Amino acid sequence: MSLAEWQSELETVMPRVIELRRALHAHPELGGEEQWTQAVILRELGALGIETHTFRDCYGVMGVLRNGEGRCVAIRADMDALPVQEPEGLDFASGCPGVMHACGHDAHMALALGSAMWLSEHRDRWQGTVKWFFEPAEETFGGGQLMVAQGCLDNPKVDYVIGQHMNPRYDAGVFYAKPGFVSGASDEIRLTVRGKGCHGAYPEAGVDAIVIAGQVVSALQTLVSRTISPFDPAVLTIGTIEGGTANNIVCSEVRMKGTMRTLSGRTRSLLAGRIASTAQGVARAMEGDAEVEVIPGYGAVYNDDSAYALIEHAAEGLLGKEKIVRRDMPSLGVESFCYFLKDTPGVYYDLGSGVGTALHTPSFRVDEACLLPGVALQCLSTLALLKEE
Ligand SMILES: [Zn+2]
Ligand SMILES: [Zn+2]
Repeated sequence: MSLAEWQSELETVMPRVIELRRALHAHPELGGEEQWTQAVILRELGALGIETHTFRDCYGVMGVLRNGEGRCVAIRADMDALPVQEPEGLDFASGCPGVMHACGHDAHMALALGSAMWLSEHRDRWQGTVKWFFEPAEETFGGGQLMVAQGCLDNPKVDYVIGQHMNPRYDAGVFYAKPGFVSGASDEIRLTVRGKGCHGAYPEAGVDAIVIAGQVVSALQTLVSRTISPFDPAVLTIGTIEGGTANNIVCSEVRMKGTMRTLSGRTRSLLAGRIASTAQGVARAMEGDAEVEVIPGYGAVYNDDSAYALIEHAAEGLLGKEKIVRRDMPSLGVESFCYFLKDTPGVYYDLGSGVGTALHTPSFRVDEACLLPGVALQCLSTLALLKEE
């Protein structure tokens, strides 16, 4: 079906989607506080006759629509807003001071509810099970982790999961994505360098942790360039460094924090190991020591090749070739969608939401012209994946 055909197909759905997106926009809630948002989603899914589930320790919601034998496809939408002050201007601007839907999650929820409206109304056009994952705290602790741990991917087992995100670098309704890696894994590094304090005038009596830390930082900055192929992206950033108490005391301990970003699992464990061995080796060569802790964060997002091909094909049929933009590179930013993909294939794509603004800033705006193609694409992708041989 073309976009024009979907326009009549979604004639009754779209006014409600727009109304919901504006209501959600006017009432943003930060990660971990999405109580009102959860109530709206439960009410909307319930009104459609869709089975609903909630989760412990977060405000996540799952909707389940069973429609006979077949595959199970899940659609994920994130729920939380950001600590950003929205400027005046919109009739439905944020009514919560200092909180704003500046990452488009209001639109993501409305799109998912739109696909729930259409798919529940047209059960004669498909068979199987569709689930909707409304994920809280995407911007903070990643509510998806709790939802997956509490079994959202089971009973029935999810065969494919789809995620969609607004992208303000493209015109409304542009499909922007790629197969394979989309975003990287992120791990936190905590590094402590230990020496031995003494009087600043008699350095021979101690071991200067600040001098060691300087060498450690320089040595760490050679790891990405010297131990990893230039064709395998990785980043190591030391973001904080602190130590010392006075101008005339040789410092005994320096603490640093950093972030490590990688795509492949192999590079992720290689780099973590080399950070520890390099820091310790340098520190010990200088009569000190180093302790390194790598705290695992988000995993990489990888788009399944065959599922991606089906969705891109559906997008091309719907939007036309000129609206398909193949992303040339993955990003080393992170996405909590990774939790849903840990053992389940899936596809994460961006939908152009109108140019001229930026995510996570007060300027962010969604051009509502992207909502109709957004709902249609979610429905078409679900139908394609349910039918896949
Ligand atoms: Zn965001
Ligand atoms: Zn987001």
